[in-house]
Amino acid sequence: MAEENKLKTVSYKETLNLPQTDFPIRANAAIEEPKLLARWQKEELYKKSFACNKGKEKYIFHDGPPYANGNIHLGTAYNKILKDIFTKSQRMMGKHVPITPGWDCHGLPIELKVTAEHPNLAPEQLKKECRNYATGWIKTQKEQFKELGVLMNWDHPYLTMSKQYESTIVRAFGKFVEGGYIERSNKTVPWCASCKTVLAAAEIEYEDRKDPSIYVAFPLEEATQKKVFPALKDTVNMLIWTTTPWTLPLNKMVILKPKEQYDVLDINGTLCVVGSKLSDAICKKLEVTKKVVATCKAEDLVGGNALHPFIEGQKSALVSDGFVGTQEGTACVHGAPGCGADDYEVALKNKIEIFSPLSDDGKYEEGILPQELVGQEVAKAHGWIIKTLQEKGRLLLKESIKHSYPHCWRCQKGLIFRATKQWFCDLEQNNLRQKALDAIENIAFVPEVTRNRLRAVIKGRLEWCLSRQRIWGTPIIAALCNECDAAFIDQAMIKEVAKGIEKEGIEYWDTVSLEDVLPKGTKCAECGSAHFKKEQDILDVWFESGVSHYAVLYNNSELGYPADLYAEGSDQHRAWFQSSLLTSLVLEGSACFKAVTTHGYTVDQKGRKMSKSLGNVVAPQEVIKKMGADGLRLWAASIDLGSDAVMSEILVGNVKEVFRKVRNTCRFLVSNLYDFDSKKDAVALKDIRAIDQYALHQLGQFSNAVQKAYQEHDLTGVQHHFADYCAGQLSSFYLDIIKDRLYTDVKNGVERRSAQTASWYILDTLTKLMAPILSFTAEQLADCYQKGKTESIHLQGFANVPQVWQENEEKSKECQWEALRIIRSSVLKAIEKLREQSIVKHSLEAKVTLAMNKSQEAVQPVLQLLEDVKRTGQNKEQFLKEYFIVSACEIVDYDDEDQDIDQEEFEKFDVCVASETGLLVKAGHADGSKCPRCWQWEVTDHEHGLCARCQLAVRKK
Ligand SMILES: [Zn+2]
Ligand SMILES: [Zn+2]
Ligand SMILES: [Zn+2]
Repeated sequence: MAEENKLKTVSYKETLNLPQTDFPIRANAAIEEPKLLARWQKEELYKKSFACNKGKEKYIFHDGPPYANGNIHLGTAYNKILKDIFTKSQRMMGKHVPITPGWDCHGLPIELKVTAEHPNLAPEQLKKECRNYATGWIKTQKEQFKELGVLMNWDHPYLTMSKQYESTIVRAFGKFVEGGYIERSNKTVPWCASCKTVLAAAEIEYEDRKDPSIYVAFPLEEATQKKVFPALKDTVNMLIWTTTPWTLPLNKMVILKPKEQYDVLDINGTLCVVGSKLSDAICKKLEVTKKVVATCKAEDLVGGNALHPFIEGQKSALVSDGFVGTQEGTACVHGAPGCGADDYEVALKNKIEIFSPLSDDGKYEEGILPQELVGQEVAKAHGWIIKTLQEKGRLLLKESIKHSYPHCWRCQKGLIFRATKQWFCDLEQNNLRQKALDAIENIAFVPEVTRNRLRAVIKGRLEWCLSRQRIWGTPIIAALCNECDAAFIDQAMIKEVAKGIEKEGIEYWDTVSLEDVLPKGTKCAECGSAHFKKEQDILDVWFESGVSHYAVLYNNSELGYPADLYAEGSDQHRAWFQSSLLTSLVLEGSACFKAVTTHGYTVDQKGRKMSKSLGNVVAPQEVIKKMGADGLRLWAASIDLGSDAVMSEILVGNVKEVFRKVRNTCRFLVSNLYDFDSKKDAVALKDIRAIDQYALHQLGQFSNAVQKAYQEHDLTGVQHHFADYCAGQLSSFYLDIIKDRLYTDVKNGVERRSAQTASWYILDTLTKLMAPILSFTAEQLADCYQKGKTESIHLQGFANVPQVWQENEEKSKECQWEALRIIRSSVLKAIEKLREQSIVKHSLEAKVTLAMNKSQEAVQPVLQLLEDVKRTGQNKEQFLKEYFIVSACEIVDYDDEDQDIDQEEFEKFDVCVASETGLLVKAGHADGSKCPRCWQWEVTDHEHGLCARCQLAVRKK
């Protein structure tokens, strides 16, 4: 008997419309993703996406060029994925979104790397090797970006080292010259007197060194003393502390700490101004008893002058700056703008001369005072200076100190700071800075707070030094006088050279003879000499990448100017965003971007920036190995743009969970559409079941919300909408309800086809909306449900969700379904009670009776809904039975006068729940017997106990 029953069950199972699909439960990314990548390549998707929607409204995204050295790291991957999501979503919203990817190729890191690999190369050989090096990494990075699923026009990137681009950099520089922005003046730089070269930050090494440590008195100028200390008769001195006595002849100022209090100490009869916080320490050092004769604020002194301790008649300006500390010294800092980095900046801010008569081999030059110093090596000047200070009675103390000091990485000699002639962009010319600040007000920033960051960077920028003393970069086209070093720069000459560079690259400047490009009869404006040499400096790489809008977007009919969007990490405010904005205002006369989106840095779970030394670097390939490129993409989309991009186990776990949920939902949908051809089998929307209409309405709202979030670059919003919709609306509600209809109803009957119609729209919409983020999964899904698919999902648009309800009825219908949802929760509560009492195990074993008081306001929307259901040809009880997932549902209407609803009688049921006003819900075990096919209970005398519906379905098989 048992055996026979089992057999029957099996045979009924075969009559069910059980789900079928090839779409796997697990992503299996390691196998599937490379297959798709190969297919996209073969289908020329990169090229096609560039042309997709041509003729429609353009959306110009401009790719900030990554640097072409090394494998991509997680930060680069994160950045590129975000760009890809932003642009894919715009394309799917119907816009034409052509993207030319770029690479930044010149610059010091490559030059250093190549020099380390091949030391002592001649400049032309070095450039050749640098080109090869960058070319190699571009190839590698390109493949790595493709593996992330990023769609850009990979075969036609822009490279800052292409001949075309190099010549555009030169032309752009020419326009700056034409506009009067370019000037040549002194800048203080770290210098190795032994190698006779400027050093980049990366080339400076710190080592301990022993130096003299001296305390020197600068007497106040009479006027200043009278103003600040009118009561003091004796001369008051500013007491400074220095460990580089040789810089004293270059002193131009004494720098105080703003708002700090200062004491005037009597030190063995010499009055000295020092920071109050340091008074005790100084007295101890000088072995005197502390005697404060006056006090003042830094601001009292600022604006006045001190006198140089040994140069007759030379003043030292009293200024203040935040960099001055009160940890050591005297809080009165000796400032020599021509031989200190901080001093240089303070001098710029206070418009004090950058005085630096120092030769490239580290000697005092003509112009230094006293004259006897001319020709002396600065490294050997300590003795002379200390002796002179002693003679003048200005030296209060001399010790020696062992401290960390900058050294040259090549020769290990101590560095000096020295001002050299550099090329600058004058930010005040034509109000450039103010124009940039004004432009910022009209640019959209995501997140909005980042507007301030760019504003602050532009406002606080002291200068833009454009020149570098390097090889691997675009030359500054200028000539220098052989006699007096004055520069000759000319727009016509620059244009001429640009033509040559367009043909031969930057190497042209090395080979062309200056006579061929210098205008005939050129004479030095300073000394009249006719002998010139070529300028050897190259341009700042930020100028090169900064003019990419000019080289790539401007006057390019395939792309367009300005860009709708730039999107980079938050460190680019001080770098690429800034240089792009400033150059665009000069070159095109308008800002190069309409919107700027900024994201955070990638950090580990402890919030630490990833670095090789910490050993916490995560390669994107590692993440891909664990959860596929789609997993990595989903991680990227899960991060709030305003915070750091954390890569942690917990976050990865959450991402996997969302991924699994979305995947399962879609798999359920696709597996119930195996026999559904949307063109042939779809039911007209006016004829689909009420609940299916409701599902489509919800789908429309979901779709609108997701598209709005994409539009606003709110990717965490996109993800939340997905999670809520898949879990809340689909899994635990709609899909749960229609499961029975899909599995057990007549295969091609209107009931099942109606559910499939809605399911198809849901799947189509979901798949397309996820495609910008889950680019691989979406393509796989589309392969499964799009019958006769010929075009990649990434060339398709977002789905148009059909509007099933008239606009004027939407509000009231939403309200009706909301009311029904409230009843549903009462019903679920009642069934839960049945379960607790072991009356039923599954909700299908239950029957429900609803008693609704017709005269109560609260039940009106539901009564209305049930009337509509009836009008569309569906039985009300049948509808509710499916909606509650029970075997029977009875409706009892009553009103206040009705006697046939007997409260007491009603309460005799197994469970009774009073819900909203005017509603009673009772539930009990369903009558009859369980249908072996669909498990619903029905009073029936059909063969094998099949219910009426199954009887029909089995017969139609
Ligand atoms: Zn050196
Ligand atoms: Zn000259
Ligand atoms: Zn049945």
